[in-house]
Amino acid sequence: MSIEVITDRSGLREIRQKVEREERLSFEDGLALYATPEIAALGELADFANRRRNGLRVGYNVNRHINYSNLCKLSCMFCAFAKKRGDADGYEFSMDEILERSREAYEGGADELHIVGGLHPDYPWEVYPAMLRAIRDRYPELHLKGFTAVEIDYFAELSGLSHEDVLRELVDAGLGSMPGGGAEILTDRVWKKIYRDKMGPDKWIDVIGRAHRVGVRTNSTMLHGHIERDDEKVTHLIRLRELQDETGGFMTYIPLRFHPENTPIQRLGLVQGVSSVREIAVGRLMFDNVPHVKTYWIMTSLEVAQICLTMGADDIDGTVVEEKITHMAGARTPEHVSEEDLRRVITEAGRTPYRRDTVYNELAYPAPERAPRPVSAVA
Ligand code: SF4
Repeated sequence: MSIEVITDRSGLREIRQKVEREERLSFEDGLALYATPEIAALGELADFANRRRNGLRVGYNVNRHINYSNLCKLSCMFCAFAKKRGDADGYEFSMDEILERSREAYEGGADELHIVGGLHPDYPWEVYPAMLRAIRDRYPELHLKGFTAVEIDYFAELSGLSHEDVLRELVDAGLGSMPGGGAEILTDRVWKKIYRDKMGPDKWIDVIGRAHRVGVRTNSTMLHGHIERDDEKVTHLIRLRELQDETGGFMTYIPLRFHPENTPIQRLGLVQGVSSVREIAVGRLMFDNVPHVKTYWIMTSLEVAQICLTMGADDIDGTVVEEKITHMAGARTPEHVSEEDLRRVITEAGRTPYRRDTVYNELAYPAPERAPRPVSAVA
C-alpha cells in the first residue's frame, strides 16, 4: 500500500489543505475527522496544527484535587461519584480536613488546588466563599481553580444572587479560575437521556459566558464515550468554539473519557485508547481559537496521554493527588504522579516540558523550596 492510498482512505486530503491554509473547519469537516479510519494521519495533522501554535513545548502543572464532598442532590446517569446522605461511601470534608489537604499541597510544592464537589443538599451558600477565603488567607501562593458551571448555578439558586454576583463574591474570596466540567455533551438529546435533572446545554453556555464576562477564565471539556453520536460531538465543539469567538475566556480544551463502572449505564463499556487519541486530535483541529488542548491522564492512562502529546495535545494534567470522581467510576490509574515522572513522560514523547501556573505562565523548575506553614497560620 502506498502513502497515497492511505491519504485517500483517510478522507482528509481537503481538510489537510484547509489546515495548511489556516481555514476554519466546518461541521462536515468535523464529521470527516470522526469518520476517518486513519488515526495516524489524523494525529499527524493535529500535531501539525499544534506545533504551529505551541511548538514542541508541553505544559504541566503541579496541583492537587480537593473533591470537598460527594453528597449531591442530583443523580446524573453517568456519575458514580454522587452519593446520598446515609450511603456508606458518602463523605464531606470538614473545613479542617480541607485546610489540612491545602497545607499538604502547599508544602508539597503545588501551585494550584482544583476544587469541585457535588451539589450538597444542606450547605448554605456562605460555606463556599468561606472555604476559599480560609484557604487563600493561609496559602495565598495557591491558585484556586474551583466550581463548575453547575455548582455556580446551584450557588445562585441557594443565595438568591445573580450568577455574576456569585462569581464576584467567589473571586473576592480567592477564586482564580474555573474548570470546564459539567458541559457533558451540549445537545438536548443527550441531556434529556442521561442528565436531565442537571442544567441543560443552553444554560451551561450561558453561565460560562457570564463567568468569562466577569473576568473568570475557564477550561472547556467534553464527556465522550457513552451514548453520544459523532454529529453531537461536532455540535458540542462548535458551540464551544462560538462561545470562545464571543468571549475568549477558554484557556484549554479537555476531552474527558467516560468511565462507566458503578453507574446506571455501565453496560455501555469503556472506550479505549484510539478514542482518546481521536478526541485530542479532533479538538485541536476544530478549535482554531483555543490556545491549548490538554490530555487528562487520570482518565486515559499515562501511556495513552503520552501518545496524545504527539497527536495534538500540548498540555498534560497534572500531579493531581487524591482524585475521587473518576476513581469511583472504576478508573485503574494511580491518583498521583510525581513532577519528575510527568517530565519524563513528556520528554520521552520528544517534547520539551515546562512547569506552568493555571493560566499558562511558565514557572521555574525546580520550584524554590517552601518552608512549612501550619494550618493555623493566617498570612
Ligand atoms: S455529575 Fe455532578 S451534579 Fe450530576 S450527580 Fe454527579 S456530582 Fe451530582
